[in-house]
Amino acid sequence: IELQVADIVESTNDTAMTHVSQASSPVICLAEYQESGRGRRGRKWVSAPAGGFIGSFGWKINAGVGALQGLSLAVGVVVVQALESLGFEGLGLKWPNDIVTHKGKVGGILIELSGEISGPSVVVVGIGLNIYMPLGVQDNPVDALIQSESEIKCASRSQITLAVLVAVAKLLDNYVNTGFSFWRQAWMDMDAYAGKEVRLTGYNVLVQGNERGVDQNGAILIEMSDGIHAFSGGEISLRQI
Ligand code: ATP
Repeated sequence: IELQVADIVESTNDTAMTHVSQASSPVICLAEYQESGRGRRGRKWVSAPAGGFIGSFGWKINAGVGALQGLSLAVGVVVVQALESLGFEGLGLKWPNDIVTHKGKVGGILIELSGEISGPSVVVVGIGLNIYMPLGVQDNPVDALIQSESEIKCASRSQITLAVLVAVAKLLDNYVNTGFSFWRQAWMDMDAYAGKEVRLTGYNVLVQGNERGVDQNGAILIEMSDGIHAFSGGEISLRQI
C-alpha cells in the first residue's frame, strides 16, 4: 500500500482517485487539512483546525461496481469497531454514511466509484473524523471524539489513525468476498435511529415512518401504514421527527 501524507489538499478523495488510477498498488492519502472537503451532493466537509482524521483509500477492485453495494455502511461499522477497540464509547451510525453520538455528527464517509458493471472498478473511500471539535458547521449538530480527560486517555491521534487505516484496508481487501450481508447485523446493532420516527429528505415523495434498519443491500427500511419499504439513493437523507 502506498501511503501519502500531505499538509493541505483540495480533497483527499480527488488525490486518491488520481493516484489509484495510475498506481499498481492501493493508495491511502491522508491530510491535515482539506480546502474543499465534500460530503454527498457536493455538500461541504469542514476540517477541524486542531486536527482530525482526513483520509481517502483508493483501491482497485477486481469486480464490477455492483459488488461494492453497501460498502459505505460497512466502512462505518469497521471505523466504529476500531474506535471502540481504543475505548471510545457512545458511537452509533446514521444511515447512510454518518458516525454519530447523541450530540451530533463525529464522522462522515464519502464513497466515489469509477468502473463498469462487469468490472474492474476503482473505489475511493473518504473518511473524515472529528478527533477535536470542528468550527463553523452551522447546519447540523456536530461532536468530536476527544473533549474530556477520559477521552484523551483513550487514544492519541496517531493511534486513532493507525486503527482506522488497518480496519478499512482489511475491509477493502475482503469486501467483494463478503458483500454487505456479512456486515448487516453489525450495522443494525450500531444503528442510532433504530425504531425512531423519521422522514426521508431528497426523495421525490414524502416518506415518513419508523426506521427498521437496513436490507441485505444496505437500503434503509421504513415501516409505514402499508408495511415496510426499502429506500436507497445518493440523494436521500434521514431526519428524526
Ligand atoms: P445529513 O448529515 O444532513 O443527513 P449527509 O449525510 O448527506 O446529510 P454529508 O453530505 O455526508 O451529509 O456531509 C455534509 C454535511 O455534514 C454538511 O452539510 C454539514 O452539515 C456536515 N458537516 C460538515 N463538516 C462536518 C464536520 N467536520 N463534522 C460534522 N459534520 C460536518
